[in-house]
Amino acid sequence: MTDLAVDVLGLMKSYGETAAVDGIDLQVQRGECFALLGPNGAGKTTAIEILEGYRARDAGEALVLGHDPGRPTRTWRSRIGIVLQTATDNAELSVSEVVSHFAHYYPNPRTPESVIEAVGLSEKRKTRTRNLSGGQRRRLDVALGIIGRPELLFLDEPTTGFDPEARRDFWDLIRQLRTDGTTILLTTHYLEEAEQLADRVAVIAGGRIVAEGTPSSLGGREDADAVVSWWTPDGTQTRRTAEPTRLVSELAAEYGGEIPELTVRRPSLEDVYLSLVGRPAGTASDADAVGEL
Ligand code: ATP
Repeated sequence: MTDLAVDVLGLMKSYGETAAVDGIDLQVQRGECFALLGPNGAGKTTAIEILEGYRARDAGEALVLGHDPGRPTRTWRSRIGIVLQTATDNAELSVSEVVSHFAHYYPNPRTPESVIEAVGLSEKRKTRTRNLSGGQRRRLDVALGIIGRPELLFLDEPTTGFDPEARRDFWDLIRQLRTDGTTILLTTHYLEEAEQLADRVAVIAGGRIVAEGTPSSLGGREDADAVVSWWTPDGTQTRRTAEPTRLVSELAAEYGGEIPELTVRRPSLEDVYLSLVGRPAGTASDADAVGEL
């Protein structure tokens, strides 16, 4: 048995003239949490839907849990969990009824109660889904994605609409699933989410992978210079250096203690991401102090 949960080579999919997925190679190890990042229309959902067995590819090779997703079987489907971008619609059923209903589709489901609790909907278990808030509906989607105890869980923008506390609860849940051995393939527009959860990330733009690596090393991030800034009577001073500790020590000696308004900054994942996908002109920020990566 291969160690790869997802093994993709030269994946292609066009809609008319639009090459939505334009030759993607992707390998996700079993047990790994992998995040796909990219701007709107980059091709993430198309790629994910091909891997979920819901969209036919035009070309390329793909294996998901050792099986061709272009020929989905019921047994194979029961081994994967899916949280789509569009919310589930079971308006008249209660949370508990929907989750119990979906549990019947799987050979070895988790208990509905445990899943409802895990996504933080215990207090809403008797509420009809049409009366849930947007974020609560999204949690229900996550519950349905994990009820079947999937080996591989696809999460397409799972925390859109979550408040900050719910997002943190969700991250804990994903970490727990990963600890339990679930492989996770996630798309997100929240860079912090990728940083918190992913072992590796890939950035997709124009249907192609433009960078891949760990969140801390993507785009040469770990080797980038630090930017040190501090207050002086003549205004804020900013200096870029490969040796921030030395600079801060010198400044501390100069000031005889606290350095006013000191910050030491390395490029964030967001800085790197924006430089990879091409930031639109006229959106300069202090991140630009870090320069090209
Ligand atoms: P988002 O972050 O907005 O969800 P995405 O990276 O998931 O975007 P896709 O939904 O895969 O992007 O879309 C990739 C490209 O394919 C876009 O240009 C989109 O307009 C096009 N596309 C997607 N689905 C279809 C379809 N069913 N018919 C025609 N074009 C499509």
